[in-house]
Amino acid sequence: MIRHRQSRTRGWLGLLCFLLLAAPLLAKQRPAAHSGRSSPAPSHPARAQGHDNILLITIDTLRADHLGCYGYKAVRTPTIDTLAREGVLFPMAISQVPLTLPSHAAILTGTYPFHNGLQDFTAPPLSDNFRTVAQAFHDHGYATGAVVSSFVLDRSWGLARGFDYYDDHFAGSSYLKNNLALVERRADGSVNASTAWLAQHHARPFFFWLHLYDPHSPYHPPEPFLTQYRGHEYDGEIAYVDSQLARLIGWLKREGLYQGTTIVLLSDHGESLGEHGEKEHGFFIYNSTVHVPLIIKPATDSRRKWHSTEAPVETVAVAPALLQTAGISDPIQKQFDSPGLLAEAGGGAPAAYSETFYPFSSFGWSPLHGLETEKYHYIDAPKAELYSPPGDPGESHNELAGQGAVAGVLKAELQKRIQEHAPAAAPQPGGSLDEAAVAKLRALGYMAYRAPVSQETLSHPLSDPKDKLNEFNSILHATDAIDAGHFQEADALLTQLRRDDPGMYILPFMQGEMAVRQRQDAAAAQYFQDCLKLAPNFDQAMTGLAGALQAQGKSEEAIQWLQRALQRNPQNFRAWYEMGWIQERFQQPAEAQASLQKALAIQPTFAPAYRDMGMLQFQQQNYAEAAGSLQKAADLGLVEPTLFNFLGICYSRTNRLPAALRSYKKALALKPDYGEAHLNLGLVYERMNQATAARREYAAACRAQKDLCALAKRRE
Ligand SMILES: [Zn+2]
Repeated sequence: MIRHRQSRTRGWLGLLCFLLLAAPLLAKQRPAAHSGRSSPAPSHPARAQGHDNILLITIDTLRADHLGCYGYKAVRTPTIDTLAREGVLFPMAISQVPLTLPSHAAILTGTYPFHNGLQDFTAPPLSDNFRTVAQAFHDHGYATGAVVSSFVLDRSWGLARGFDYYDDHFAGSSYLKNNLALVERRADGSVNASTAWLAQHHARPFFFWLHLYDPHSPYHPPEPFLTQYRGHEYDGEIAYVDSQLARLIGWLKREGLYQGTTIVLLSDHGESLGEHGEKEHGFFIYNSTVHVPLIIKPATDSRRKWHSTEAPVETVAVAPALLQTAGISDPIQKQFDSPGLLAEAGGGAPAAYSETFYPFSSFGWSPLHGLETEKYHYIDAPKAELYSPPGDPGESHNELAGQGAVAGVLKAELQKRIQEHAPAAAPQPGGSLDEAAVAKLRALGYMAYRAPVSQETLSHPLSDPKDKLNEFNSILHATDAIDAGHFQEADALLTQLRRDDPGMYILPFMQGEMAVRQRQDAAAAQYFQDCLKLAPNFDQAMTGLAGALQAQGKSEEAIQWLQRALQRNPQNFRAWYEMGWIQERFQQPAEAQASLQKALAIQPTFAPAYRDMGMLQFQQQNYAEAAGSLQKAADLGLVEPTLFNFLGICYSRTNRLPAALRSYKKALALKPDYGEAHLNLGLVYERMNQATAARREYAAACRAQKDLCALAKRRE
């Protein structure tokens, strides 16, 4: 029998993924929930006839000051500039958190990160207590659709709630990559998916969200933008996105939909591009990463007056503004933290809030909170900062010393803002924290409580991220070295970092991941154990340890660690997947199948689990079921010659010969010297009475694989 799993990739807990996303992409996955519990939804959607369409466009990682309409000269963005001309441009829109998932959660729910609990990637998925604007539109009769372009907005986080259609289908093989943060779909594919859905669903008013990811690092625009923007490829990605938006807008115009559609375009956060020593985003909350574009092109006959203001506006104001422009009244309005952007709403808060907990939850350093007014930007940190962006747009002169009174007022306002909008009853932290540690988390405004920051860390004053910039950049450097396969260099960096700061759990975790990639299983196990000593509740380290133990043949220990990981985080679908694999090796097909089913219930787009499920069904000779599972894996984008060969066998054994033919041909397109696929294809041709084609395949089988010659000759 042909072996499968040879392409199984270990070390899937991507390192960069961990760093960029501050972990648990993989950890807390949850099936798409399609209805919130916060309010009863009408059982029959109300009619929405005569209402405008709403198109929400979020462009990831887009600095406001890198668009033509915001005064930048080095990029061509004619489409976005035209939207700004035909609509309203908000010069000072501020993102509430410079991280993709939490920022989008704030945009779609109209709530602050510390209110909804999605503050970083160590948080659980969006609580059912929060409605999304999509639910409101859905319940008022709108067709609701979304196309997202990055794995980090995958449906398991709860943002798919309320969307009739949520396209987060990325190549299934992406799950086999180390770095999930790099799993993305280019703008052309996402625009195609959007127009395909819109073409089917514009008979009634629609609410559609398009998320584009291209400006996110790495900056590598397609031609001709790569050549045109050599040396500033980030701008090239922006120009490319603009060119794709031109296709979308052109389509809307051709379909006669443009005029009746309110288009809201914004970004989730900016990009530091080296300012303040930060390369990308998430670590600090300077304007380089929190100042974002916000443009609203109203439907032509919109009676609503948009309130354009020089004062800072928040991205949490977008959701209330969307409902106002649609004239919808919905229970979600009770949850909003902002009155919106329309003139009659009063233009929202005069100061904009932002935060980042990334330095805290990943490294145990202080979180940052900020408040920005028309004149000042105050950043609360162990060493607070105060800037005057109008005269100092690069925020390079800290005026705190001379402006203590201003800073004091803003600090008080910041604390009031947090108190006013924090949830009445915060969730109880799990794990091993004592009361003092929990009190400290609450005082910090941290609602997630899942960060693997240890009690020991919480018992000391937290370091200012500014003072940790060298360490942070060394960690990023080590990550790049690991990605490039320069393991010695990475190990030297990590060893030095551990000597300087032995309390950072992420360092042994990274070393464990690196050891996994080098197949040093005993060393990997030791590193993961070191990590768990510092962060006893870190389920990803448990899953990593289980993999390392399993590789050494210590299956029983591995299962125990998987069980502990699942106890800590029942949504860890990778743990269920690993469990299934071990059970299969122990000849427990029923248990293995149950584990894979659990993995798929949590993460329904996890192609490798469909593949393995299909192979289990194949081994039990359930060819029809196996065909369904393997086909699903293929439909999700898994591209493996063995997968298509087995799929062909399943189709052949269930007498679906044309389908079998197609599958074998796909296997051979991927691996032209695949002897078994040639042989199998020959058999199908023979059954279809195509003797010449059959003989050709038998000969090819023999050429490709000597041990198939006897078999092939017998058929010829
Ligand atoms: Zn982002």
